[in-house]
Amino acid sequence: MRKVLKFGGSSMASAAQYAKVKSIVEADPARTVVVVSAAGKRTPEDHKVTDLLYLCHAHMRYGVSCDSVFSMISARYLEIRDDLGLSTDLESELARIRDGLEDDISEDALASRGEYLSARLMADYLGFDFVDATEWLRFRMDGTVDQEFSYAALQRLAEGRKIVIPGFYGLGADGNIRTFSRGGSDITGALAAAALDAEIYENWTDVSGILMADPRIVENPEPIPRVTYAELRELSYLGAQVLHEDTIFPVAEKNIPLNIRNTNDPTHPGTIIMERFDDDPDTDRRFITGIAGKKDFAVVSISKKGLSSEVGTMRKVFEVFETHGLAVEYTPNGIDTVCLVVSAKQLQKRSAAIVAGLQEALKPDRIEIADGIAIVAAVGRKMARRPGIAGQIFSALGDEGINIRLISQGPQEVNIIVGVDSRDFNAAVRVLYNSFVR
Ligand code: ASP
Repeated sequence: MRKVLKFGGSSMASAAQYAKVKSIVEADPARTVVVVSAAGKRTPEDHKVTDLLYLCHAHMRYGVSCDSVFSMISARYLEIRDDLGLSTDLESELARIRDGLEDDISEDALASRGEYLSARLMADYLGFDFVDATEWLRFRMDGTVDQEFSYAALQRLAEGRKIVIPGFYGLGADGNIRTFSRGGSDITGALAAAALDAEIYENWTDVSGILMADPRIVENPEPIPRVTYAELRELSYLGAQVLHEDTIFPVAEKNIPLNIRNTNDPTHPGTIIMERFDDDPDTDRRFITGIAGKKDFAVVSISKKGLSSEVGTMRKVFEVFETHGLAVEYTPNGIDTVCLVVSAKQLQKRSAAIVAGLQEALKPDRIEIADGIAIVAAVGRKMARRPGIAGQIFSALGDEGINIRLISQGPQEVNIIVGVDSRDFNAAVRVLYNSFVR
């Protein structure tokens, strides 16, 4: 069985990183399909090649010379090639891209060249075959991936070979190069893994897995060893960011395990993401998988005597929000009070129209808007059907003097969400982490 590996920008940033990639790939003969990103930052002050390519395109659009930006891009790849002692003919590739710039190359086509050049170099370095993404990854007219075509094409191309594929792009229905949104090489890797029914999709990055909490808030949070796709959706929706959010669908569909690994610490097992795990409650007593959250929510509360017994209330409320294009995140209700948690920023521009719409639709006694609300979620599959966990969460917050403004729990019991004042946000995340993880 094959293993599909994807290496992100930091793993492709310099010759030294290429050397780490090579030893990872060569450590396991099943690692035969490698998907790569464009060269990323070597230091925090450095530039990502993809950003430079977009910058080049912007110069071109406004008729400003992009010579200096283009030479930075060329220099990055030529340096990697020379440091690795390879003889890949990058000069002709770079000249072709340069000609494209004179010739109105599309933004997507130009942005894709970072991955293309990385893959050409990595294929030579590993001694693998280069398979261009345009040869197999096809988009439909509506911009979605034509999985049937793409999977069959890659199966044919990969048969009996060891290959390197550029991430991030494919061929659009109009025959031109089309990219995913930023960070999309993760999706290419997931599609390749699904196409080839891989044993595992290893996503190599510069952190040892998904962390249990935001390291800007909690000092040295531990990585999550195992997380389900459903838990990951909850965590990433509320801000935990490691993967492009569309990555999981192709691998989840085929229940292929996704393993996030660290190129700079290859012996660390990282995080495994799967549809389900056979957890042993006796040996694994930690019931919270991760803690995530976001600030800047607002709560719209609508009160009216007898509201709960009126038929159609929620439909009317949602209709008003829908008419004004505002997504409702949570609806923690009371008797005769309906509350809607929405993005404060999005509400700002539309609040007068929404209040007027609600007045007309419901004739309520009172409408109140409270902003400055933060949402903090404790996520964990092992919380399900375990009594007492919500109680522990509330008392941990209460003991630290953090007032809970609202509470919500989904029926799958995979998360418990609390709303607190935005100024208590960091403290709430730390309290939950320290109470349940440390
Ligand atoms: N290079 C692209 C970006 O920076 C895609 C990727 O790295 O996943 O967004």
